[in-house]
Amino acid sequence: MSIEVQHVSKTFGTYPALLDVSMHVHDGELVALLGPSGSGKTTLLRIIAGLESPDAGRGRILFHGQDVARRRVGERHVGFVFQHYALFKHMTVFENIAFGLRVRPRCERPSRQAIHDKVTRLLQLIQLENFGRRYPSQLSGGQRQRVALARALAIDPNVLLLDEPFGALDAKVRQGLREWLRRLHDELHVTSILVTHDQEEALEVADRVVVMNQARIEQVGPPAEVFHHPASEFVMDFLGQVNVFHGRMEQGRAVLGGTLPDVASRGSARDTLYVRPHDVQIERRLNGVPALHARVVRVNRAGALAKVLLATADGRAVHAELPLDRLEELSLRPGEAVYVSARHAHVFSSDYVI
Ligand code: ADP
Ligand code: MG
Repeated sequence: MSIEVQHVSKTFGTYPALLDVSMHVHDGELVALLGPSGSGKTTLLRIIAGLESPDAGRGRILFHGQDVARRRVGERHVGFVFQHYALFKHMTVFENIAFGLRVRPRCERPSRQAIHDKVTRLLQLIQLENFGRRYPSQLSGGQRQRVALARALAIDPNVLLLDEPFGALDAKVRQGLREWLRRLHDELHVTSILVTHDQEEALEVADRVVVMNQARIEQVGPPAEVFHHPASEFVMDFLGQVNVFHGRMEQGRAVLGGTLPDVASRGSARDTLYVRPHDVQIERRLNGVPALHARVVRVNRAGALAKVLLATADGRAVHAELPLDRLEELSLRPGEAVYVSARHAHVFSSDYVI
């Protein structure tokens, strides 16, 4: 079921949590709402679910083209999973998953056998076939979140809303669940919105990413597009590490003039260049490309790419990433002098978008 959010604002007291937000989720799509803490992600999700209403005005939520303003939470058929979704502790995994079906009014309630079959299928789907009789306290964090997801899916929701569902789990488990969620989505095609502040999670799992900042949407696009063609300084900074330089573009080439400490302290947009660490080039000698003097501070080989921390003459840090064989070739040692240039830079003034 498609979801359309049109001109939604939400104010708490005088604090604007959402400012004229519009977005569209296609039927069967998995969209990630990505943004820092406090940017309004949960508020938007709660409004879509009907747990919160938007400010009076022209804000509307449409499910499959129908305005749902008058539909209460229960009537929207939304499945929810939260970061700390407390499963019912005194109920087994099986009973937890069956709960949403058992509490239906008698006339809509499936038969005992139908509930049994459905829960069994869901247990298979979340790969916990033999865990039905266990209690939540006998499960790992990752298993509990899979049960929470099965419980949300049991009611055949029109829409699945996931609010930082893996936020409390450790990195390895998160990674596994992420891949699992994507496979599950490919199987079920339930229209889903995943809220996360983790850019890797959003870029890896979602069909499209909605980047939020300070109550507004900054950019919407497929993961590769928002990563490679960020629409603003904020998106560029939020989606990965970035070096910020004074400089200018000359015939499509970045000429670095000096570093700036961070995105917030940039000067006028015209002479600010944003360079990802993997686009920083290190040379032993000048080779005709305009380059900055720098010194090697630290080399870290522990990764698919080597991380090199450099310092410019004015003592500012430059982060570079390069293939391990290139590092061998350069054989960099801390303290050595090198030249730094940019293979590719982003400029956010309309004059020089590259
Ligand atoms: P996110 O999920 O992106 O971290 P939220 O949507 O939870 O952000 O919150 C956005 C802003 O709205 C925050 O500054 C938060 O403090 C505020 N906020 C959220 N819910 C309430 C509420 N019920 N009452 C007052 N302020 C709220
Ligand atoms: Mg939140």
